[in-house]
Amino acid sequence: MKEVSDIGVIGIAVMGENLILNMESKGFHVSAFNRTVDKVENFVAGRAKGKNIYGALTIEDFVSSLKSPRKVMLMVKAGKPIDSFIDLLIPLLDKGDIIIDGGNSHFPDTERRVKYVESKGLLFIGTGVSGGEEGALLGPSIMPGGSKDAWPAVKPIFQGIAAKVDDGSPCCDWVGDGGAGHFVKMVHNGIEYGDMQLINEVYQIMKDVLGMSADEMHEVFKEWNTGELDSYLVEITTDILAFKDTDGQPLVDKILDTAMQKGTGKWTGTVALELGIPLTLITESVFARCLSALKDERVLASKILTAGPTPSFNGDKKEFINHLRDALYAAKVISYAQGYQMMKSAAAEYGWKLNYGGIALMWRGGCIIRSKFLGNIKEAFDKDADLTNLLLDSYFAEKIQTCQNGLRQAVANAVINGIPVPCLSAGLNYYDGYRTERLPANLLQAQRDYFGAHTYERIDKPRGEFFHTNWTGRG
Ligand code: NAP
Repeated sequence: MKEVSDIGVIGIAVMGENLILNMESKGFHVSAFNRTVDKVENFVAGRAKGKNIYGALTIEDFVSSLKSPRKVMLMVKAGKPIDSFIDLLIPLLDKGDIIIDGGNSHFPDTERRVKYVESKGLLFIGTGVSGGEEGALLGPSIMPGGSKDAWPAVKPIFQGIAAKVDDGSPCCDWVGDGGAGHFVKMVHNGIEYGDMQLINEVYQIMKDVLGMSADEMHEVFKEWNTGELDSYLVEITTDILAFKDTDGQPLVDKILDTAMQKGTGKWTGTVALELGIPLTLITESVFARCLSALKDERVLASKILTAGPTPSFNGDKKEFINHLRDALYAAKVISYAQGYQMMKSAAAEYGWKLNYGGIALMWRGGCIIRSKFLGNIKEAFDKDADLTNLLLDSYFAEKIQTCQNGLRQAVANAVINGIPVPCLSAGLNYYDGYRTERLPANLLQAQRDYFGAHTYERIDKPRGEFFHTNWTGRG
């Protein structure tokens, strides 16, 4: 087959198949290949039938079916398969051809691959693709980074298939050099963990403190989804709470309370620790899943550690539900502020020039964390591209100050009633820590100097001048 396709996709699984169909529906001619070639044959005879999709049975034929510069997108399992396909492709491709990794690769791998592929005279893009199966088919959020010279050739295809926001802007733009695309996708996944856990904590307060039924909670979330909390995750929570099992009872009440994870949230927390960024809310959301997984231990502990309050509420229920709404909003703002702080730190560390407003736009549609309020984040960075912290933007500063009382009420009530709220409280602690002019780290520095002669700076001397005290008077 000779040079008919605008792009080729390797990996005919859930994501690859749907991306190919999406590309074809936007007028692109696509070639498809898969390690197990039966899947190519099944795809061509099935969902791809009658479409401008060429199914190649060998990788050589696949490569020769692509127009120059060739664009090969890998949609295979992250890890070794990506490196194997890169090594298979390099001898078959020509200078200026482009390899794209659209899987959930960890960004240091992408940093390495960009350098390796470029050293062979080719270009490499590592791109986050979010939105799951449906997003891939109908319009995902796409976060590409790597060899910038590859972007002009890939841009029409990626922006053509990406989700669009109300004004028609695509949820896809160039993120930055090296592993920047996959880094931003990782932070996106971390934020997704945080957003989900926050909703879960509010749900448990409603259920266990206020004694609300799934139907009652459904009504509350439905209303919330018409305001500032308008988002995909609040929308699906609304649907889930209304969903009944075959016996007419809410299905959610019958689902085992052990959460699973694929690891991208864990990466976000690990990288935050490496960068020294207080990404407390997202990291707590990962630990919350870890704790949920200890089901048997928790069942045992619930019989032994019986001391603690029995949840009860005698206040104004309507007012408290409004506090919960404000708490959810405030904690979300704090989580995004932490996520952006981490992106800024990584950009400085890795030498990336990130477009922070553009990132908010990429997340505005197509992906799991899509929400109305990402539009406000974009506006904040449009106003000041170098904004130090989202909480310092005038819009968000006002919002967080309005909503902080709700967050405080929610956390205080949960603590009094023995309801675990790791993410709501992490958010509140960050807010209070960030706005505290004088933290107790003066004592900490004294302790460090006492036992380890680590020295300290003084408030009455210029920064950068270090002092050591003989705290014990011993020689
Ligand atoms: P997947 O289950 O992660 O991977 C299946 C594909 O990888 C198949 O094409 C398979 O080929 C290939 N593969 C697996 N091991 C291989 C190996 N050792 N050598 C060569 N090929 C190998 O597929 P997916 O769910 O569609 O995801 C594709 C990528 O997108 C992944 O990186 C995933 O993390 C990412 N992603 C997924 C989602 C989602 O919602 N599923 C969302 C965003 C991103 P065979 O058919 O020959 O086994």
